[in-house]
Amino acid sequence: MSPCPVFKHTFDTPSFKGTVNMPTGLFIGGEFVASVDGKTLDTIDPTNGKVITSVSEGNSADIDLAVDAAQKAYDTVWGENVSGAGRGKILMKFAELIEANLDELAALESLDNGKAFSIAKGFDVPEAAACLRYYAGFADKDGGKVINVDSSKMAYTRHEPIGVVGQIIPWNFPILMLAWKLGPALATGNCIVLKPSEMTPLTALRVAALSLEAGLPKGVLNIVNGYGLTVGNAIASHMKILKVAFTGSTLVGRHVMKAAASSNLKNVTLELGGKSPNIIFDDANIDEAVSWACFGIFFNHGQACCAGSRVFVQEGIYEEFMKKYLAKVESLTLGDPFHEATFQGPQISQVQYDRIMGHIESGKKEGATLLTGGKRHGTEGFYIEPTVFSDVHSEHTIFKEEIFGPVVVVTKFKDEAAVIALANKTEYGLASAVFSRDISRAIGVANKIHAGTVWVNCYNQLHTAIPFGGFKSSGIGRELGEYALANYTSVKAVHINLTAPGPM
Ligand code: NAD
Ligand code: MN
Repeated sequence: MSPCPVFKHTFDTPSFKGTVNMPTGLFIGGEFVASVDGKTLDTIDPTNGKVITSVSEGNSADIDLAVDAAQKAYDTVWGENVSGAGRGKILMKFAELIEANLDELAALESLDNGKAFSIAKGFDVPEAAACLRYYAGFADKDGGKVINVDSSKMAYTRHEPIGVVGQIIPWNFPILMLAWKLGPALATGNCIVLKPSEMTPLTALRVAALSLEAGLPKGVLNIVNGYGLTVGNAIASHMKILKVAFTGSTLVGRHVMKAAASSNLKNVTLELGGKSPNIIFDDANIDEAVSWACFGIFFNHGQACCAGSRVFVQEGIYEEFMKKYLAKVESLTLGDPFHEATFQGPQISQVQYDRIMGHIESGKKEGATLLTGGKRHGTEGFYIEPTVFSDVHSEHTIFKEEIFGPVVVVTKFKDEAAVIALANKTEYGLASAVFSRDISRAIGVANKIHAGTVWVNCYNQLHTAIPFGGFKSSGIGRELGEYALANYTSVKAVHINLTAPGPM
């Protein structure tokens, strides 16, 4: 393994001035190294389509090395070789270091992903730190149970780490998805081989360097950048990786599950796509509903798995709601992610840009009404205007398929039963929302929606303590909260005979 080049970049922006100097290799066994075959991949600035830098690109041989490093660390310096309190202390320090490097991490994230610097700084990076800190607190608190059977026997359970786990994450919240994966896995004593998205490889490498500074032993965390078909597939099908956690599209989630099944039947958790309904009743506070519904779809440029991409508005307030909603949507500021006023930056890539534009064309062709947006914003980069369609029916493609961009479809409804049926008419079940001042109605509807999250009178509220994940084709398992610990532990039952005589 040979050393790798560094990425040196000076930010001279209205929001952040400073220099980043970081290695671009694979992070294996606590060292930044070039890939076995020396290949690199380019990461693109989505505001202009230009190359930011290149980073080492791994393949299956690099995954083998990373797995060996992780296994060695697991057997010697992590897992049950260190107390929960010891792991917690390191995770706490890790969270502090992320906070201490807030501006630099936010700038890297913004550069690589195109999201507004102010949002990366105010949300993505602090939430990543908060997630690690939350799980630091659990590191010495995840115990088993004593189970009484009868007076002649007893049993207890142990929550043991799984061992070497694989994690594959997407580009839409690179550092936050990283933290959601690292927090529970490290707190419970696992060693990790993680692949960031090939679109956004940078913050994970910077965070890897911080993990060493926090005292995480070498080999506990390994980061291998590369493509899904090579590195991602090598993780999902590796015989020595005992668990894979994946966040990304439903299509790739199926591949990961198949690869897990046909290799070693590794444990699988999946966080996948969505087409989440946002239901606004006549008795809602209209101005509040307008604000949340706008944030619900256009936050992160529509590139959120839980985006409120199907809005349902009851007929009594439809006219007034739509008038205010369109005014709000048209007031959103698009532009340079490093300008203070920017809310919406570019989409992540040319491929995503083309895909979203294809959906907009299909909406027009199928007869939905384009109320605003639908075009490129500006002359370079992958910017798309916030786009609203009305007169959308459940047979329209734009009603059914996840667009993963700044495109919302609005449907007018008459009564509660009809809107619940429409809301649930989807293969997905990630998130949803209901707006009403009637608490009985809000809770009644929340109970009937088939989704892992329901927001009442708000949208996109995530919290490290609250589980997040999908029903139906939106996934398997839950991230965040105490629930996520179960993703990274194997339960062992120990039976003890006290006085029962032998059976023969
Ligand atoms: P994607 O599925 O294309 O890629 C996700 C990750 O999987 C990337 O790291 C990619 O390189 C890797 N990958 C691709 N092919 C693979 C393969 N054959 N085997 C193993 N790994 C492979 O998704 P994306 O474009 O990065 O992200 C957008 C999608 O992710 C959307 O559908 C969105 O809804 C979903 N998403 C879901 C959540 C959630 O929490 N449920 C969060 C973020 C994104
Ligand atoms: Mn990028």
